[in-house]
Amino acid sequence: MDSTMKSVYDSVIARDPNQPEFHQAVEEVLDSLVPVIQAHPEYLQVVRAIVEAERIIQFRVPWYDDNGDFHVNRGFRIQFNSAIGPYKGGLRFHPSVNQSILKFLAFEQVFKNSLTGLPMGGGKGGSDFDPKGKSDGEVMRFCQSFMMELWRHIGADLDVPAGDIGVGGREIGYLFGMYKKLANEFTGVLTGKGRSYGGSLIRPQATGYGLVYFAREMLATKDKSFEGATVAISGSGNVAQFACEKVIDLGGKPVTLSDSSGFIHDPAGIDREKLAWIMDLKNNRRGRIKEFADHFDGVEYTASKPEPNLNGLWGVNVDIALPCATQNEINGEEAQMLVDNEVTAVAEGANMPCTPEAVECFQANGVLFAPGKASNAGGVATSGLEMSQNSLRMSWTREEVDQKLEAIMVNIHKNAFETAEKYGMPGNYVAGANIAGFLKVAEAMQAQGMV
Ligand code: GLU
Repeated sequence: MDSTMKSVYDSVIARDPNQPEFHQAVEEVLDSLVPVIQAHPEYLQVVRAIVEAERIIQFRVPWYDDNGDFHVNRGFRIQFNSAIGPYKGGLRFHPSVNQSILKFLAFEQVFKNSLTGLPMGGGKGGSDFDPKGKSDGEVMRFCQSFMMELWRHIGADLDVPAGDIGVGGREIGYLFGMYKKLANEFTGVLTGKGRSYGGSLIRPQATGYGLVYFAREMLATKDKSFEGATVAISGSGNVAQFACEKVIDLGGKPVTLSDSSGFIHDPAGIDREKLAWIMDLKNNRRGRIKEFADHFDGVEYTASKPEPNLNGLWGVNVDIALPCATQNEINGEEAQMLVDNEVTAVAEGANMPCTPEAVECFQANGVLFAPGKASNAGGVATSGLEMSQNSLRMSWTREEVDQKLEAIMVNIHKNAFETAEKYGMPGNYVAGANIAGFLKVAEAMQAQGMV
């Protein structure tokens, strides 16, 4: 980083010294923007503004559990940037949620949403509520209490939340119901909705499918493909499940999945039948991935060690790695294990799953590396398509949505690839994605005056 960018970075740290995840996301973007500011010094003021959220909302979320015990959680909505469209981004319910994590996610979302080519600004929100082990009634009461405050800050033309970790179809349903009651109107204020009340076909599949479409394009630049490749996937939620499905469609062999308790390794490969079993386990029975190893022969289960980054999943010998669990799940040491096993490509399905050391290791060793803000953008892109369908009061077919999603992913790949070349960093998708995402937002911010 040069001294100009360093001074912006130092001011970010000085303002919020206790936000390491946010610093990590900002540092990566500022690093990428050095050649942009050299070419367009007028954008320096944009850079100084873009690292500051437009608005941060924090609120109390009180609720009662099934035993009548009282709980208080903390709710947030970070409205980071609205230069190119209404704030857009998911809600995360997880005990680790705090302002640093949501600011990193909202900041990434600004560039990701810009890359989709759709008119969406960046935001993120959530709560430190842990939905694990909670009954449907508890989740419903929590969601209703959360929306009792959030509703006044969002709207179809203002801020459109969606799901993220811990927030899926069930939670979106409860949140939408309460929004509709309070606002007394039926609008496309949330995405990821159920089919019967305005949701889009393919939205549940979109992040995982989009990730594999992006990885396919990236592999093709080196005349490689998923055909016959072994693939390590982490996570077992929505992104991991549908990445797994699309890898199978393209002739690849997924061999791992994980949850917060541990990971499974199935050397024979997870086929459609096993995947259907996992989807039922995770989506209907809300069980643990360990049960997969108990049910099917030849599957190994490894419990997570106290340091979740060293749980061994990334030591499995594979051709392609798709981290789809959470931030910072591959550290430098684990990246080196993948490199030692001659991994060809790593594409992020989660947001920021690779630490800066891991990214550096992949890039230094010629591994194709796709940053999440490009490769996982299919989810929010399809949310954008859901917003369009809601505004049109129409719904598109499965084929129509999937074709649009695929075209968007091919276009994001092309844009990131060509931008990296143009700025003298061929093959560097991190730089390409950051610069391309930035340029559109910067132009809009500059045109609108510094507001
Ligand atoms: N949480 C997802 C993401 O990180 C989706 C957000 C959305 O659909 O608004 O992109």
